[in-house]
Amino acid sequence: MNLDRRSAAPHSAVANGAPSNQVHSMSETPSEPPPISGAAPSPAVEDKAPSNGNGRESKVPGGLWLKCSNCNATIYRKEMEARLHTCTACGYHFTMKGWDRVHVTVDEGTFEEHHRDVQPCDRLAFNDRVPYGEKLLQTQKKTGLVEAALVGLGKIEGVPVVLGVLDFAFLGGSMGEVVGEKVALACELAEQQRLPLVLFTASGGARMHEGALSLMQMAKTCAALQHLSAAGGFSICVQTNPTTGGVTASFASVTDLVIAEPGALIGFAGPRVIQTTIRQALPEGFQRAEFLVQKGQVDLIVPRQEMRKRLAQLLRFVPAR
Ligand SMILES: [Zn+2]
Repeated sequence: MNLDRRSAAPHSAVANGAPSNQVHSMSETPSEPPPISGAAPSPAVEDKAPSNGNGRESKVPGGLWLKCSNCNATIYRKEMEARLHTCTACGYHFTMKGWDRVHVTVDEGTFEEHHRDVQPCDRLAFNDRVPYGEKLLQTQKKTGLVEAALVGLGKIEGVPVVLGVLDFAFLGGSMGEVVGEKVALACELAEQQRLPLVLFTASGGARMHEGALSLMQMAKTCAALQHLSAAGGFSICVQTNPTTGGVTASFASVTDLVIAEPGALIGFAGPRVIQTTIRQALPEGFQRAEFLVQKGQVDLIVPRQEMRKRLAQLLRFVPAR
């Protein structure tokens, strides 16, 4: 991996109308998706899924069973996977890996990844306990991903779409330059191909290792979506658990339709910070999908088992361009 490559240069196409392939000619070639980890996807995502406050998942030796973070039931992993990574006892929606999400969303064999080679780099020489550049390499090795976002073309029940997915397993799905760039490129792809754009988010927000550059992605992604909208495009964002910080506060909330999975934590700052700031007790269910749909921040909640069908249904209403 070449972290010095400045391929995640600020996205200029939205601002000046130049085609993005001037910057990313190497990333235009669709590539084959890497295999998801065989018949038994790695337990990492489920086991590391953020606790919803009712307890943490615990891995049972052998990886055949796992404990649900919501109801504490011990569930059979294969059965949980067959139910699209939801708890067989209570229906809790586990955080999914990006590629698993792609595979359960699009029709088999239809996904064609784009912009795979956009590489992150450590412009600020950020040094935490581990230097950021090193952390990126370790995360790439651990996850098999280049970055936290996957973008490509696919079909949902026969409806062609541009799909963008954030993977929480890659540094908490945080948005740095590459994630911002890929979201913007997905918008451009949707515009060029005259296709609807479907995004899935799972993110802790802006990537602190990239400082102000990560915050700039909020404006960039919103501008890219606005550009798509002005060209007559249509976009949907499916916010999954958790979608927080700068991702909630930017592109995830400004698509034409905002869908959430049941129980998803969606918010900007954490509840403790808010409570300390406003010095008031927060209402029950605050920052959960069910609360936000009542307040109008989320348009509808769709269980994962119905997601494909509902997305296809909604997408068929989108007039052809
Ligand atoms: Zn459960």
